[in-house]
Amino acid sequence: MITFRRIPTRVPAVALGALAVAACATAPGASTSDARPGASGSTSTADVFPDLRSVVDWEAAHDGARQPGLEDRRFSPEQYWEIAMPLVEATERLSVAEVGHSVEGRPLREIVFGSGPIRVLAWSQMHGDESTASMSLVDLLAWLGSDDPLVRDLGSRITLHMIPILNPDGAARFIRRNALGVDVNRDARRLATPEGRTLKAVHDRVEPDFAFNLHDQNVRTRVGSTDRGAAISLLAPAFNRTRDVNPTRERAMRIASAIALAVEPVVGDHVTQYNDAFNPRAFGDLISAWGASAVLIESGGMERDPQKQRLRRANFVALGHALEVIARERWSAIGTDVYEALPPNGRAVDDLLVMGGTVVIEGWSGARETRLDLLVRYARPLLERGGALGDLGDLEGYEARDTLDATGLYILPQGEMRPEGGILEPGAPATFLLARDPDGRDVVLDFDGGPGR
Ligand SMILES: [Zn+2]
Repeated sequence: MITFRRIPTRVPAVALGALAVAACATAPGASTSDARPGASGSTSTADVFPDLRSVVDWEAAHDGARQPGLEDRRFSPEQYWEIAMPLVEATERLSVAEVGHSVEGRPLREIVFGSGPIRVLAWSQMHGDESTASMSLVDLLAWLGSDDPLVRDLGSRITLHMIPILNPDGAARFIRRNALGVDVNRDARRLATPEGRTLKAVHDRVEPDFAFNLHDQNVRTRVGSTDRGAAISLLAPAFNRTRDVNPTRERAMRIASAIALAVEPVVGDHVTQYNDAFNPRAFGDLISAWGASAVLIESGGMERDPQKQRLRRANFVALGHALEVIARERWSAIGTDVYEALPPNGRAVDDLLVMGGTVVIEGWSGARETRLDLLVRYARPLLERGGALGDLGDLEGYEARDTLDATGLYILPQGEMRPEGGILEPGAPATFLLARDPDGRDVVLDFDGGPGR
């Protein structure tokens, strides 16, 4: 009998015949009834902003606005604009302009909505493999072109400048850095990259009152000291090393409080506060220093949301709600307390432990059968693909998102994990059979870089 135990379940896993996957009773957003009260206690957006759109309303708006074609969170910038451009061209409320080019010459585009006096700047995917908010911005474009009466109202109160996919060369390869190998979010001071210069130029022209810096963080990060995954992490960035709070930053904290309340019904109590150490090279921090109330939204990971579609929705709800709060100048209705009470981002756990099994190595006369726990790290952790050995041996006390109980089973290395003439070592592909017998006649799981579920 083999079972997966997925934290934070901490209950006996359900055992199936050949391969069992323990359902995660507290998976973020598994269902609303799973959501325990988080930092906000019982407070909701409806309590604080009874006259504004509710989270349910924003979720319904997202149902109407969600664009097909981005079901896989790896997409090229060209694919993206094939979806986004018709949305911009379909309405007079949106305009688009090329405001720069990437290292490889891809266009950097700014989309503008509205003509109101409050200036808002939002950009996404300055890290090329952080695409969640880019998907949300496409849905937002669709909503901004809809006949929802709130859209016209917002457009008279705010002017929203959006730069989706600030790092298209990185996005084309789904890597963090740009084509020069530079982390664009560490280029705010030097402005050596065309992407960084473009963002700075747009910033200087717009002089935003509010800014949204949209990212994805490590999917393995936990909520505080708990076993729960961090789905959304928020930050009102510091503008100096002493992390002072001036009125501009306090206003950002209030917006972050509003966002925390808005996303909690969507993702459950998986909302954290991002570390606020000041980084003089980072755009969020410097845009805060340059005078905007800036909010960083980091999308993390949710179990059973490998393509981050639920987090896409959470970002849409967050941005829609925040824009309405800003447009109606209602940030004073909420304190900084909800934001400040958010648990911090905690430790990052590993992906999969295979515990209690016996590794069988043909040809090693001194150690043909050895009790070895295995740690598997995935290249694509939410998809559970691309597993490589992270460690071997006595791994009691290690922490991982999943644990596979291999007690009484035999682990038969396959392919490149098989040490024919070589040795077993970390970094090798995790490809093995789990069998009830040392000869592999009764296989219960063919683990080919992932559990194949
Ligand atoms: Zn990032």
